[in-house]
Amino acid sequence: MNTGGYPHLGSWGPRARIDCQAISHNLAWLRRRVASAGTQPVPRIWAVIKANAYGHGLAHAVAALQNADGLAVSDPHDAYHVRSLGWGGPLLLLSACGLEVDTLADPALGELHVVIDDEYQLALLEASRLTGRGLHVWLRYAGRLGSHGLRDPAYGRAYARLQSLQRAGILAQVGHLHHYASAEDPDALRQERSEFAALVGHHPGPCNTGNSAALCGAAPEALDDRTQWLRCGLLLFGASALPGVTGADLGLRPAMSLQAPLLAVRHIRAGQTVGYGESFRTQRDTYIGVVGVGYSHGIPRSLWQHGRLLAGHGGRPVPAAGRVAMDTLTVDLGPDAPEQPGDVMTLWGQTAGGAHLPVETVAAACSTIAAELLTSLTARVPLQADS
Ligand SMILES: *Cc1c(COP(=O)(O)O)cnc(C)c1O
Repeated sequence: MNTGGYPHLGSWGPRARIDCQAISHNLAWLRRRVASAGTQPVPRIWAVIKANAYGHGLAHAVAALQNADGLAVSDPHDAYHVRSLGWGGPLLLLSACGLEVDTLADPALGELHVVIDDEYQLALLEASRLTGRGLHVWLRYAGRLGSHGLRDPAYGRAYARLQSLQRAGILAQVGHLHHYASAEDPDALRQERSEFAALVGHHPGPCNTGNSAALCGAAPEALDDRTQWLRCGLLLFGASALPGVTGADLGLRPAMSLQAPLLAVRHIRAGQTVGYGESFRTQRDTYIGVVGVGYSHGIPRSLWQHGRLLAGHGGRPVPAAGRVAMDTLTVDLGPDAPEQPGDVMTLWGQTAGGAHLPVETVAAACSTIAAELLTSLTARVPLQADS
């Protein structure tokens, strides 16, 4: 089933297998972790599914996240898509940038929450006639991220204007939203938190915070009773946001396995080169495997220097060898290679035999982060739910 809506390639191309049960498992893991903080009431969880559910496909994610308290998306098209997939719970639009008032007013979007980032968006809200719509608004604190949101004194003035819209019955609720800049660093996170606490100390109302790095670190222990909602994306797909720690280390299950067929096995003599730029020269006679996936599918070219793939069901680790090309890449299978054309190669995730190559490890080999790899797969990679 190709619910990502992508054109289907021939059997020689790559495919991303999506394990919906892993996503449900990771949400349950997160709930236990949040509940263990002991805060009353227990904060609710926004499952963030922007960027096509971190590359996993909105339909797969919505099916797997039925137990979330709300779903968060970054653009109105996704909001409509999520409703068309049958999601009846709260929806959070992570930005009002470029948003039309008609969208906010549309009853078809059900319980809608929206993040307000600046005075322009605020003025748009004030000029609209949303009475009776029951819109929930979260004002974003600029904090250390600085790319969106306001800080005092502008924050306080904007919050007061939102409160008067609430008193006038135009908004159902207003609250405070904080998005961390450096949640993977415990000291920086502590400081970001105390700055936000100082800000909201002056203003009543619920808070909406969190991200994966904060939630897999010491975060839940630091919650307070005003934290009504926590937002989380990456963790739900089984990847960790902390350097040097994988999702599997934390007890999460990877939701995506990227696989491609071995197209050819070629004998190469010692001293010969493979690939563009003659960048890989073998020191010994060996077998080179040609794998049916390349940069046109979203594999970074930088994979070739330090990357590994898992060969076959057993998942024998083999190093990339030579530059990643548009539709193929090459691996060094070694002089005794047992692999045959047609064998499955795993770029990240799990093999049929249960071997596992964490996407975080592949990301480190490419000097990037797991979220970039997962969301960079192109429309040429079909997303197939495991049955
Ligand atoms: C993407 C995003 C999140 C989720 O971040 P993760 O690190 O993937 O958990 C939370 N809040 C906002 C505002 C976001 O843009």
